[in-house]
Order: sequence, then structure tokens, then C-alpha cells
Amino acid sequence: IRILAYESSCDETSTAVIKNGREIESLIVATQIKSHQRFGGVVPEVASRHHIEVISQITKEALAEAKVDWKDIDAIAVTSGPGLVGALLIGVSAAKAASMATGLPLIGVDHIMGHIMAAQLKDEIEYPALALQVSGGHTEIVLMKDPVHFEIIGDTRDDAAGEAYDKIGRVLGVNYPAGKTIDQWAHQGKDTFNFPRAMMEDDDYDFSFSGLKSAFINTCHHADQIHQELNKYDLAASFQAAVVDVLAHKTIRAIKAYQPKTFILGGGVAANQGLRERMSLEIDRLKNKPKVILPELKLCGDNAAMIGAAAYNLYQAGKFSDLSLNADPSMELPYAQEMLQ
Ligand code: ATP
Ligand code: MG
Ligand code: FE
Repeated sequence: IRILAYESSCDETSTAVIKNGREIESLIVATQIKSHQRFGGVVPEVASRHHIEVISQITKEALAEAKVDWKDIDAIAVTSGPGLVGALLIGVSAAKAASMATGLPLIGVDHIMGHIMAAQLKDEIEYPALALQVSGGHTEIVLMKDPVHFEIIGDTRDDAAGEAYDKIGRVLGVNYPAGKTIDQWAHQGKDTFNFPRAMMEDDDYDFSFSGLKSAFINTCHHADQIHQELNKYDLAASFQAAVVDVLAHKTIRAIKAYQPKTFILGGGVAANQGLRERMSLEIDRLKNKPKVILPELKLCGDNAAMIGAAAYNLYQAGKFSDLSLNADPSMELPYAQEMLQ
């Protein structure tokens, strides 16, 4: 089964050809980061315009790079939510047009299901599986009964982890998106500030990062007022230690409670070296160790390959969309499945 996949939920326009949900025959990612950086975040109107400019071209490129033609494709997949509505609509419209012109089946894919399925492009997932999904807009612990049934057992009460990285990065004068730079700085500093770790003792799998973000910003502003220079590497290390402590603590609790066969790290923040090392280390200490899949670094951020991987599972389960498929900016995992029946 060969799937042509589209992703345009935020600031990356991407196409890919994926074979049997595991093999990347081609992957094109057109990033718009440079256009948004001067605004310190993603500007929806600008994002939509860039998507529309490149989407036809990168469709041709994905087919060419895979050395295939439309007749070799079995289905067309697209991220239909969550994300920016105008951005999503470009991918959804392109996929629907392609489906109509070729008669190929259409598969709407949840972006978060896609992030998690980046793991499938690296190794075989054994079920039940459990994922820590950490990205710019989401921080969730997801339980997977099989490749298409997902349940969110933990969520953030406020900011997402990636969002917190981007917000504190701004205070340190780091360009959007700040996660990668803060991660690098963290490895050059020490946890000297002892920032708060929220909800560590709570009997649930939820997170909160706004208190940590405020503590960080207050520390910087206070130092500024008294003209004190703080070590940015120590600040980054202290922030990262707090984030990783909470993420690891709650995730390990969930792994102990649910005993999954596979643990997956997903989303843009899954590229974080501190988090990857810590999760591997803590899981290695468990008596009942699940298999750990850390997706390839270049597949942690938004890309169409992960959408093609997730779409293959939906194809196998007979979950197709029709031409009434619409962008759903606030789609949530369980709801996405109902939509697909
Ligand atoms: P979502 O997937 O929740 O809809 P999104 O698509 O905008 O949101 P992603 O593209 O998956 O988010 O991830 C981008 C986020 O990942 C940004 O917030 C970025 O700062 C963060 N990020 C990237 N690399 C790292 C890293 N090494 N450490 C921490 N954060 C990182
Ligand atoms: Mg992005
Ligand atoms: Fe994403």
C-alpha cells in the first residue's frame, strides 16, 4: 500500500510518499520559519499564503523523489486537524482535489496521531502502547489499545511544553521556535535556580507549565531591575530540568499503571536531548520495561511522513473520509476517531 500524504497544519508544508506505513519513499518539508521569526511566532495569514504557494510544486516533488506516478498511489492522506484553520484548509483542499481527480480514497488524519506514528517509521510498535506527546500545542499522555484507538489519560492544564520553551526563549532573546537552542544551552549549564515542579505529587497524569514559565520570567525581570546578569546556560538548564522532571515523573507513573508493551515519545519536543536521555534512563530502571521508540530527530517536528504512517493504519482499519472532509482546528483524538467511525 502506497500513500501520498499532506501536512499543512501550522508553519510547515509537507508531502510524502509512504509504503506500507513504515517506509519513507520520499519526504519534502517546506518550512516557513524564516517568514514568521520576525513576528516572534506563527502568523496565520502568512502561513496560509506560503502553503498555497508551494503545495502543488511539492506534490510533484514527492512523486518524483519516490519515482512513482499517480497510478502507483493507493490512497491520499491529509492532516485535517488540529491546527490553524486556514493552514489546514490548504492541505485538505489539495488532498480532496487530488482524490477527486484520481478517484483514490481519501483519509483525514489527526495531527497528533501523526506525531505519535512517527515512531512507526523507526520500529514496530507493539500494543498496548503508551505515548508522551509533547509539542507546540499539546502535552498529553496517550494510551493506545491498537493502531487506531487512542485515549488521552493525561493533559496539560495550561501551556504546552513546547509553548513554554518558546515563551521563555523569547525572554532570553532566542528566535522562535526556541526549543532547540534552549536544549543546547541547557547542556552547557547547571540546575542552580530550582524552579517549581507543578503537580508532581498529584494523583493523576496531568501537567501544568504556566507556574514554571511565570517563575522563570519573574526571575529574569527581577535580575534585570537590579542590573544583575544571570547565566543564560544555568537558566536554560534549570528550566529544562524542571520540565523534564515533571514529564518523566508523570509518564513513568503512567507506564507503571498501564504496563504498555511499547513507549513512544512524540511531537516537536521529542527532539529534546534531555528528555530523550531521561526517559530512556528511567525506563531502563523499571522491572517491566516496555520497548522504547524515540522517533528520528527530523521526524519529531511537523512532516507528512508521520501522517502517511498514521493513514496506513486507518486504511488497514477501513477508516476512510469522503469529499465532505473539512478542516477541524480543534480536533481532539477520541473525537477524530468518531468522525472516522
Ligand atoms: P502541535 O503539534 O501540538 O499541533 P506544533 O505542530 O506547532 O504543535 P511541533 O511542530 O510538533 O508543534 O513542535 C514544535 C515545538 O517543538 C516548538 O514549540 C519548539 O520550540 C519545540 N522544540 C523543537 N525542538 C525542541 C527541543 N530540542 N527541545 C525542546 N523543544 C523543542
Ligand atoms: Mg512547526
Ligand atoms: Fe505538530
